[in-house]
Amino acid sequence: MNILIFGPNGSGKGTQGAILKEKYGMDHIESGAIFRSHIKGGTELGKKAKAYIDRGDLVPDELTIPMVLETLSKSKDKGWLLDGFPRSLAQAEALDKALAESGMKLDYVVEIVLDRQVAKERIMGRRLCANDNNHPNHIAFEAIKPVEKDGKLVCRVCGGELSTRADDQDEAAINKRHDIYYNDKDGTMAAVNYFKKKGGAKVISVDGSVPIKEVTALILKELA
Ligand code: AMP
Repeated sequence: MNILIFGPNGSGKGTQGAILKEKYGMDHIESGAIFRSHIKGGTELGKKAKAYIDRGDLVPDELTIPMVLETLSKSKDKGWLLDGFPRSLAQAEALDKALAESGMKLDYVVEIVLDRQVAKERIMGRRLCANDNNHPNHIAFEAIKPVEKDGKLVCRVCGGELSTRADDQDEAAINKRHDIYYNDKDGTMAAVNYFKKKGGAKVISVDGSVPIKEVTALILKELA
């Protein structure tokens, strides 16, 4: 099963993605997380991408598109859940073309709908687990609240160290990421509309303002 998951930064897209990965066993491919692991590993790609990411700008397509398409092709047999890509109309077109060429079929498009201001407030409370990117932690949500150990907040799943993303604490960077997401001319909303209009894949639009479990239930009901 191949799924695209859309939602503004802060909509709970990563949390839902981790749940779907666990349930269906497909690969959860997150473009932002791939970039962060390149930055951590000090690779050439990481060095080139870092300044864009810190500012909340898109990393140029000539770096991003090949990186994502290569990762997708490795998951061809297992199926994938793609998160964070496409983020623009141009990326949507490139993805569509690559899928047609490789014989991969897009089965579902999941869209988590959330008001921009609510999404912004949520971003600042999320925490990253040092051990596993699929361990969601958020200081404002009871269901995924980090736990306290020796006076420190640690990952609620594995006890791993938690950190914040620099671009999550920078209001200008958040605004930029949301400008890109809510742009329906050539930004991410244009990419969502591209796949909605194209047809073929089932589109599942869910309200992201309800509790995490309810969002999951809404998605699972449609992913039959
Ligand atoms: P995310 O973890 O999805 O919030 O992504 C973090 C950052 O990685 C973004 O703000 C961009 O700078 C970069 N990034 C992630 N996905 C893409 C993409 N599809 N195209 C360009 N840049 C991206």
